[in-house]
Amino acid sequence: MTREQQHALPDEIFKIIFEKSPGSLLVGADAPRFTIMAASDDYLKITSSIREDILGKGFFEVFPDDASDPDDLTTARHVFTKVAETGLKVDVPCYQCDVYNADTKAYEVHFWSCSNIPFSCGNKVAYILNTVVDITAEVKARQAATESENRLRLAAEATGFATFDWDLKDEKNYCSPQLVELFGYPADAVLTSTDVFNMVHPDDKEIVINAFNEAYKTGVYHYEVRIIWPDGSLHWISTRGKQISDEEKTNTRILGTVLDITESKSDEIRKNDFIAMASHELKTPLTSIKSYIQILAKKLVNTEDNFVINALSKANFQVNKMTDLIHSFLDLSKLESGKLQLKRDQFDINELISDTITEFIQASNTHNIEFEPHGILEVDADRDKIGQVISNFLSNAIKYSPRGSTITITSKTTDCGPTVSVTDLGVGIKPKDQKRLFQRFYRVDSDKTMTVSGFGIGLYLAGEIIQCHKGKIGVESAEGEGSTFYFSLPVFPPL
Ligand code: ADP
Repeated sequence: MTREQQHALPDEIFKIIFEKSPGSLLVGADAPRFTIMAASDDYLKITSSIREDILGKGFFEVFPDDASDPDDLTTARHVFTKVAETGLKVDVPCYQCDVYNADTKAYEVHFWSCSNIPFSCGNKVAYILNTVVDITAEVKARQAATESENRLRLAAEATGFATFDWDLKDEKNYCSPQLVELFGYPADAVLTSTDVFNMVHPDDKEIVINAFNEAYKTGVYHYEVRIIWPDGSLHWISTRGKQISDEEKTNTRILGTVLDITESKSDEIRKNDFIAMASHELKTPLTSIKSYIQILAKKLVNTEDNFVINALSKANFQVNKMTDLIHSFLDLSKLESGKLQLKRDQFDINELISDTITEFIQASNTHNIEFEPHGILEVDADRDKIGQVISNFLSNAIKYSPRGSTITITSKTTDCGPTVSVTDLGVGIKPKDQKRLFQRFYRVDSDKTMTVSGFGIGLYLAGEIIQCHKGKIGVESAEGEGSTFYFSLPVFPPL
C-alpha cells in the first residue's frame, strides 16, 4: 500500500461524510444525461426525493428543467454543460426554485445559491459537485427593506418633499423630482452629487464640505447655502440629512431632505439690514447726548447739588448701556451678513483684563472683583472684540450674582492656549440651559433671571467672536452655586 493510499479516506467513511453534508449532489459529467452519483440527506430533504429512486438516473429525468426561457444562463442544464465543457467552477449567487410542501400541499417560494465544482479524471471533467444553500430568508429580508424604502420614497414624493439618497460607496445619488426642480431643472432631469455641488455658490462650498466632514463624526448632515440656478438666479436651500453606517460601521449613505428657504432668508436679510440701519442712525444722536453729558459734568464739577451729580452719573450710565446695546446689534447684523472682520494685534491679555475691570469698577462698584493673572499672556487677536467678550462675561457675572459677592477673573496658559475665565457665586445655570446659552436670543426662563434686563445676544456674539479666532468658549455651572464662563485662544504663533 502506498503512503497516499494509507492516508486516503475509506470509501465508506467518505460516503457517510458526503451524505451528511449540507445540500450536496454529485453528478457525472456525461452531458447531456448528467447521471446522479450521490446525494446528501439534506439535498434529498430539500428536493423531497428518496436516494434509491434518484441514484443512477439522469439529472433531468428526476428534475425536469424549465425550457420556458432558453436564454436563462442560471438553469442547471446551462451550468452543468458549462462546467463539463470548460472545467471551471460556476457559481449561481441567487435563483428561485419553489419547493413542494407535503403538509400544505402547495409550492413555497424559495431562493437558492449554488456552486458547481468540476472533478477531473486525467484531462477530462468526470464529475460535478453541486452544492446548494437556501437563502430565502436573506432574499426576503432584502426585498422587505427595498419595499419599505420605496414606500418611504413614495410617501416623501407624495408630500412634496425634496429628498435625496446618496450612496457613498458607489457614488450613486438619487434625487427626487422635487429636489431636481429646487435646483432649477425640469422634474425628469437627472442630477449627480457633483452637479449639485457645482451649483453651490463658490463662497459657500466650504460650508458643504465642513457639513460633510461633520456628518462623518456625528451622523447629522445639515447646512444652509446659496445655490445658483442654470438661469443665473440665486436661491437659498437648507439640507438636513442622516449618515447611515453598515455592519462594519463604515458610513455608506446619506439620506435627507432639502428645503427652499429663499423667502425666509430674504426676510432675515431685510431684518438684518433694518437692524443695521436703525442702529447706525441711533449711534449719531447718542454720541452727541453722551458729549453733552460729559460737557455738563465738566461744567458742574464743583457743584454741591447731589441731585444733579446723581442724575448726571445715572444719565451717563444709561447712555453707556444704550451704546453697548447698539454696538451689539451692529455686530449682530455684521455677523449675519458675514461682514464681521477681525483687526488682529499682538497684546498682553492681562492688560486688557485690568483695563476692563477698571472700567467696570468706575461705572458701578457693586461687586468684589478679584483678578488672578498667571504670567504674561501674549495673544494675536482683535483687542476690541476680545475686550467685548471679557466685558460680556463680567457684566453677566454682575447681573446674575448677588450684590457684594466676589467675582474672580483668572488668566493662565492651558493645553488649549491662553485661557481666561470669569467665576461668579450667583444663580448658576441648569445643564439643559448651558447647552443653549450661546444661541442667538437665548435667555434662561427662570424667576431669578427674567427680572434682569437683556436680549440674549451677548453670549451669542462672544461665541461667534471666539470662533472667528478659532478658539474655544464654554461654561461650567451648578444651579444655585455659581458659574464659570471661559474662553481660550489658539497659541500665539512664534514669529
Ligand atoms: P443677556 O444677559 O443680555 O440676556 P447673554 O447672551 O449675555 O444675554 O446671556 C444669555 C443668558 O445666559 C442670560 O439671559 C442668562 O439667563 C444666562 N447667563 C449668562 N451669564 C450668566 C451667569 N453668569 N449666571 C447665570 N446665568 C447667566
